[in-house]
Amino acid sequence: MAAMGGVDRAHYVLDKEDAYEDAPQSISYGATISAPHMHAYACEHLLPYLRPGSKVLDVGSGSGYLVAVLHNLVSPGGKVVGIDHIKELVDFSVDNLKADGKGEALQKGEIIMVAGDGRLGYPQEGPYDAIHVGAAAPTVPKALIDQLASPGRMFIPVGNFMQYIEQIDKDAEGNIHTKKVMGVRYVPLTHKEAQVGF
Ligand code: SAH
Repeated sequence: MAAMGGVDRAHYVLDKEDAYEDAPQSISYGATISAPHMHAYACEHLLPYLRPGSKVLDVGSGSGYLVAVLHNLVSPGGKVVGIDHIKELVDFSVDNLKADGKGEALQKGEIIMVAGDGRLGYPQEGPYDAIHVGAAAPTVPKALIDQLASPGRMFIPVGNFMQYIEQIDKDAEGNIHTKKVMGVRYVPLTHKEAQVGF
């Protein structure tokens, strides 16, 4: 609650009047900022792995809202990498984070925002104690499992029409344990052309 309370959602939405509604909102390019309760669920599930000093990867970082919340959870000493395949959204998220007081964290490299295919993760900064995926993958990308620390946890929506959150734990010996957490509806984790239609 403190981590979310320290982030002003008005900086991350287009329609400021509805900034504090518990509902998703379009941020253009076929993307939506998730409802606050979904961000809260994600953080709650990842919480045992979100300690000061932890490293986190947020795939499909969109507005940058969750990156800001995650930064609050892993500070001091932690690092959050946000990756989105729409360059315009990465620029949007950097502007939003700066407006929300996270400019210094960006400058210090405590927050890194990258344009790229999140299905490949971001091995340069891995392994990650926690990986959050903000778009539904037809299957769990192997690169993301590889970049999970031992121990580490991933929160990822999986499926096409029927989607479930899978909580994937990698234990200290590197064994994988998967648990279905709940049914959801997310934007697909896909390729750029499929999302924006050009
Ligand atoms: N957590 C974000 C969710 C944004 S919606 C927020 O609340 O703002 C899902 C995001 O996933 C979109 O921004 C979309 O551009 C991104 N996405 C979809 N497929 C992707 C891929 N292959 N690689 C990186 N990002 C992707």
